This record gives sequence, structure tokens and C-alpha cells, in this order.
Amino acid sequence: MLEQAGGLRIRTGTRVLIKPNFLAPARPERAMTTHPLVLRAAAEYALDCGSRVLIADSPGMGSFDRLLREGGYADALRGLEVAARPFKESVAVDIGQPFGRIEIAREAIEAEVVINLPKLKTHAQMLLTLGVKNLFGCIVGYKKPEWHMRSGVDRQLFARLLVLIHRAVDPAVTLVDGIVGMEGHGPGRSGTPRPFGVLAAGASAPAVDAAICRFLNLPPERLPTHRAAAELGLAPQELEISGDFLPVPGVRLPVLAPLTFGPRRMQRLMRKHLVQRPEADPRLCRMCGECWRVCPAKAITAYARQIGFDYDRCIRCYCCVEMCPHGALKAAETGPGRIVRKLAGLRDHLAVRLEKRRR
Ligand code: SF4
Ligand code: SF4
Repeated sequence: MLEQAGGLRIRTGTRVLIKPNFLAPARPERAMTTHPLVLRAAAEYALDCGSRVLIADSPGMGSFDRLLREGGYADALRGLEVAARPFKESVAVDIGQPFGRIEIAREAIEAEVVINLPKLKTHAQMLLTLGVKNLFGCIVGYKKPEWHMRSGVDRQLFARLLVLIHRAVDPAVTLVDGIVGMEGHGPGRSGTPRPFGVLAAGASAPAVDAAICRFLNLPPERLPTHRAAAELGLAPQELEISGDFLPVPGVRLPVLAPLTFGPRRMQRLMRKHLVQRPEADPRLCRMCGECWRVCPAKAITAYARQIGFDYDRCIRCYCCVEMCPHGALKAAETGPGRIVRKLAGLRDHLAVRLEKRRR
């Protein structure tokens, strides 16, 4: 698959970067991270082509050594001549409007070939995390929250940022590990592993992402990154898919409710009461502090035995949900928000029926 999808750019001595999804230390069966055997296969392929291989990412939490051990990578990569380390240094790259120059991991920019190895998972903010989203990991650790803050509650702006980072990193090939992926409250421990039995690869990350949408019975336009890629002329016009690719039914996806609506003066209030938001399950929360450490908006307060959210400050980035090591957080709709969404759905349904009858 790698060879067909673009890996042939690899020659003897080529500097290859493999960028897996190393979200956090987690056993492979949690389906939070790229499976170690998928990573090994990609590394073996690149080594067979005679390249020098670096495996790197910028995990959201936990030490890199622990991630390699717990994720099964230390065992899977044993005997292979590869380097594995976290991204540390950045270089400034002009990714285009409206962001201009931003700091991206040096190894990602300087690699001659980047092999992008995302995991097929749901994502509370971006619906799915696939090829385009995986490259946000090329922003080194502490800079990520800054970008969440700068995009604020504008989900489409954040999607554009992701597409532009992907364009700057320019992966030669994207191979999505969906053998066992994740549905429900992904992409962290609150998500539910689901065996999809699929690997999808291509030279264009937006095209691979669109193919995965087709596999999940989902119009690709529902992906914010697909819409942003379309605006930038990077979305595929048509998909050519080879191999068996039977769509899977009934995948549980997050609800992506709008984050801003109503008159401008009312938006803060509406967001507070109508927009879905992170919620903690006090039975699972162990007060470990990971969520308030990662929250870019400083919207989480630790009390004696529980945490509290300031929903006025919260920008709904769901970094806390992603990083909670105990699966205690999820994105939850508010009661009034659910009613409004159902009424809006009913209104759209009636409008379609009326339009059909009129014709
Ligand atoms: S990260 Fe999870 S377990 Fe830790 S304090 Fe936050 S909600 Fe609780
Ligand atoms: S509380 Fe969670 S969703 Fe809200 S800003 Fe902080 S990390 Fe993002």
C-alpha cells in the first residue's frame, strides 16, 4: 500500500520521518494510538528502501519512554535500526493566511519524506481524527494550546489551521490505521474501540480522509477539515478507490453542534446554555490534574473532591476530554441544546418534504 500510495519517493539514504498518532501512553487495545505492528510495517518498508528512519511525535501527556513501553512500540520495533524520540525543536514556517509564520517541528519540515500514520478515531471537536488532523502533532507540545486559544470557538478556523499545517509538512503518503479504530466519545480514553478492519493509504491526506468518510457512510463535507481543504483547493474532486471497501453501518459519531449562533450580543449566553460542553463523571475522576494542566483557556478549577468548569471561558476545544487518563470526561449536550438541535432537525426535515411536495 505504501509503495502504491507514494512511498516510491524513498531512495537509499533518504531521511524519512514516520509520524504516528502517539496521543498518550496507552495499550494498543485501547485504540488510542497507531498500532505498533502498523508502525513496524511502515518502518520495515522504509528501511528496506535503504532510508534513515526517525519515528517522532509530540504526545499530549506522559513521558515518551513510557509511551513506547506501554504502547507496545519498544517490543514491536526491537531489532530495527530506527530512532524514536519526541519532537523538541521547531522552525518558523509561513503556512499562509490568516496565520502567517508558525512554529512546526524541525524534523517534520526537514525530512525528505514524511509517512503519516494516523489512527481512525472519532474526535469531539473535529468529528474524526484522520490524516490531516494527525499532523497537528507536528506542533511541539506547549505550542498546541496556544493555537487552540487563537482559533477560539471558530471550529472552521481551527480546521483551516490543520489543513495548512498538513500542507506545510507535505506527507508523501498517509496510511490510516483503522484495523481497530474508535467510535463514540473519542479520541481519548472515553472513546470505544471498534474493529473496522480497514487500512487506507494514499498520496493525498484529504483524499484518504474523504475515502474513510465514505467507508463510514458519512458525507465528507461533514468533516470540518474537508470543508477547509475544499476552500483551499486541496480536497479531492473525485475518489478512485482500489481494494475491498465495504462501508460499515451505524458508527457512533460525536454531535458537532454549532459553537456560535444567535445575535452577537447573545452569543456568550447561548454558548453557555445551548452548546455541548465537557463534563466530568465524578465516579471516574481521580483528581490527577491532567485536564487543568492542558486546558488552554484555564477554564477548569480543582475543588477539594471534584473539578468545576467555567463555561464562559471554555472554548470547546476538548483537549481535556482527549487527555483525561481515566476516561472521566466527555463532550455532553446540554438539555436545552438537545431540544434546539432536535427542533432544528425537524425544521430541516419538514422543509425538505415541503420542497419535494411543491415539485
Ligand atoms: S484529567 Fe480526568 S481524572 Fe484527571 S482531574 Fe481531570 S477529569 Fe479528573
Ligand atoms: S475546559 Fe476543556 S474544552 Fe473547555 S477550553 Fe478547557 S480544555 Fe478546552
